[in-house]
Amino acid sequence: MGYNMKKNISIAIDGPAAAGKSTVAKLVAKKLNFTYVDTGAMYRAVTFFVLKNKINPQDEKAVCALIPQIEIMLDENNNVFLNGKNVNKEIREREVAENVSYIASYKEVRIFLVKQQRKIASCSSVVMDGRDIGSYVLPNADVKIFQVASISTRANRRYKENISKNIECSYNDIEEELKKRDYIDSHREMAPLKKAEDAFELDTSNLDVSQVVDEILKIINQQIGDLL
Ligand code: C5P
Repeated sequence: MGYNMKKNISIAIDGPAAAGKSTVAKLVAKKLNFTYVDTGAMYRAVTFFVLKNKINPQDEKAVCALIPQIEIMLDENNNVFLNGKNVNKEIREREVAENVSYIASYKEVRIFLVKQQRKIASCSSVVMDGRDIGSYVLPNADVKIFQVASISTRANRRYKENISKNIECSYNDIEEELKKRDYIDSHREMAPLKKAEDAFELDTSNLDVSQVVDEILKIINQQIGDLL
């Protein structure tokens, strides 16, 4: 063939809440010059819309009825737009975190967002992080990482992050919220949080950010170095 079309590459990074996926995924994407896609931010944006409209997040029918009114966009600087408005700050609020796993368990919500996630991956090379990227959204991803860390490491990291941003919080509340989210995320019917069979499990409990990035880049190079 006369063409030398470079195929779009996808790197999936999944794992439980606050395992440091987004920090690392952003850096890996930058290094490779790929698009970073934060799928959690998309579920959070839907949740924010539900709460803003005073709909009970546990009322599946009422939540799903809102879907036609929702448009979510991510830009190249990792900004999240909900119906044209930047909601980066709002989607990190506590009320969103406490309710997002209910919203993410609804099939119609997932179908709506997965469609968009697959479309992004079909148009560009991506590093996509979430819970079901390697197992469901992009089952043919070129490299799959399942990033884990102990619950105390994850709660500690989130606690320190909040304190540095002047967000008032208690360590115990954070640990409880993470455990609850992980439970709902891994027990839902559709595309639950789980390690894809062909994913590399990476325990980051004793690694700092740059060590995790190096480790992931090493795995990527070993797997698909020839495609980069
Ligand atoms: O990654 P983050 O913690 O921001 O994700 C927020 C929530 O969104 C998760 O706890 C989960 O309920 C949901 N989520 C999901 N599938 C994804 C990404 C996030 O269900 N691919």
